[in-house]
Amino acid sequence: MTPATPDRAALHAFLERHGKFLLTTHVNPDGDAIGSEIAMARWLRSRGKSVRILNDSPTPVAFGWLTADDAIEMYDEALCEQRFSEADALVVLDTSNRQRIGRLSRHLDRHVVAIAIVDHHATHDGFGQVNVVEPELASTASLVFELMREAGVTPDVTAAEALYVGLFTDTGNFRYSNTDARAHRMAATLVEAGVDPSDLTSRVHATAPAGRIRFFGESLAALQVLEGGRLVVVEAAPEQFARHGLVGADTEGLVDMPRAIAGVEVVALFSEVEPGKVKVSLRSTGNVTIDAVCARFGGGGHPHAAGVQMRGTREDVKAKILPEIVRLLDAHAESLAGGDG
Ligand code: AMP
Ligand code: MN
Ligand code: MN
Repeated sequence: MTPATPDRAALHAFLERHGKFLLTTHVNPDGDAIGSEIAMARWLRSRGKSVRILNDSPTPVAFGWLTADDAIEMYDEALCEQRFSEADALVVLDTSNRQRIGRLSRHLDRHVVAIAIVDHHATHDGFGQVNVVEPELASTASLVFELMREAGVTPDVTAAEALYVGLFTDTGNFRYSNTDARAHRMAATLVEAGVDPSDLTSRVHATAPAGRIRFFGESLAALQVLEGGRLVVVEAAPEQFARHGLVGADTEGLVDMPRAIAGVEVVALFSEVEPGKVKVSLRSTGNVTIDAVCARFGGGGHPHAAGVQMRGTREDVKAKILPEIVRLLDAHAESLAGGDG
């Protein structure tokens, strides 16, 4: 199969040309980040390449099983230094923002290593020699999947599972607006390659300690419905994380739950993992797009799912973010009322 774009062709050549790869992804990796790394590692190894995976942050428990045969190392300055000196190429997956690879970014200037980016975010610096960034794709795993097909590689069951995890987590279990025919066709191909969707969903979703569900319960019980029901705000306090023994990644999925409330257009989660450090997660439906709000404060994401890390108390951060969202909701309401105006 011929590559769909010149960028993809350049990436295939890049992968052919190099022999020792270091793979990485964004801080606080999600299913797409981990799934894309594992599938890419297996693909490259099947081609006789040497591959290491090193991330800034630990792999969430929900995806730990994916790393049984393909270890993912966690950042340590000396280890990272060694991995960079061994590698001749770095492949950055699921982000094209240099800051988002966390502490690994400090090592980039010290090593002559070729960089390729494989991503699906609209906001990007494109800091690679080769940048394959396709925002129309639901997940980075979708891109890896299509690249593998172009290279004539059939994913083994583990790679197929990794790709499926990337796809089904980034589409919110095939519920978000990025769920299109292409996503379902990919899912069908992966099921034919050996993925068991029901079993795999349990492996990812049935992994929470009871405290995490209690924590969700507390936050959801206190949710606020604003703007006539169009905006829902959820918060998580440092005290809750401490009391339940949880970390920032444990909020995964919390922001999606209020989407079930009739009439909601935007859900905002303000998660204060440690005092003065707030992770904002935004989700939207319909025509309201919220990635620009996050980008304004240094974050980013997709039109209907975006995030940003901010300094300050929850009250400080809410005072900055919420007026922006209200403005978007007002503008959207006006555009609906204004007809062709
Ligand atoms: P989250 O709300 O953490 O699930 O993030 C939703 C999406 O927003 C992710 O898939 C990322 O693409 C993006 N995102 C989250 N946090 C950040 C950030 N600090 N900077 C840039 N993009 C982010
Ligand atoms: Mn991601
Ligand atoms: Mn992604």
